[in-house]
Amino acid sequence: MRIVVGHLYPDYLNIYADRGNMAVLAWRAARRGHELEVRPVGLGDPLTPGEHDLLYIGGGQDREQALVAPDVAARGEALQAALDDGAALLAVCGGYQLLGRFYRDRAGLQQPGAGIFPLETVAGEPRMIGDVLLECELDPGVVRTLAGFENHAGRTLLDQGAEALGRVVYGFGNDGRSGFEGCRLGRAVGTYLHGPLLPRNPWFADWVLAQALAHRLGDAPALDPLPDDLERRAHKVAADRARTRGGKY
Ligand code: GLN
Repeated sequence: MRIVVGHLYPDYLNIYADRGNMAVLAWRAARRGHELEVRPVGLGDPLTPGEHDLLYIGGGQDREQALVAPDVAARGEALQAALDDGAALLAVCGGYQLLGRFYRDRAGLQQPGAGIFPLETVAGEPRMIGDVLLECELDPGVVRTLAGFENHAGRTLLDQGAEALGRVVYGFGNDGRSGFEGCRLGRAVGTYLHGPLLPRNPWFADWVLAQALAHRLGDAPALDPLPDDLERRAHKVAADRARTRGGKY
């Protein structure tokens, strides 16, 4: 099967090699006999609901975010229509912030967002930098960990009743105090975790892949397991680092 990914603003939002997440998805898809086609969606490019199985947006500095923010905000309806059509979505850091209602950056500029995730973000001091370990329960009764790296000034507040991606075990997460990290809305996930995220969290890479396939198939398929020895070792290194170096005020 061909899995079509819409990669938003790859030229602007690619901090910490967030693009590497696409390489992981392509490789894991190919190992299951699927082909991942990544189509860049730049400023002003059309975004047709139904075209993409997965939408992906990476992180960036405040400056790059400010350049794309009006374009993101203008896409609110198209993005919502794509999600309503069943597309999956993964948003990292700056991209995560811009899919909320707004991000007030360090210069005090209120960057408009797409209003997809029920949250808003305001920059503060100090920056929240360090390795992170989360506990997630994306499928009821199945608790798994995500390891990554965060570096953000933005403090993200989820609306009452919004679902987080996970619970912070080590690190800061959304705002350094709520104990929550990221946001999950059906097949859409936003997170502060870079690393990039997917190479060291193979279960989550497969979860995203299965959600993208669900856009085609109706339900998320079970994917054949891969050996993942290196990936599991990478996860352990990152998780251990979060235990000892996870951000704390
Ligand atoms: N510019 C945003 C912040 O500092 C996001 C940073 C990032 O994507 N790493 O909060």
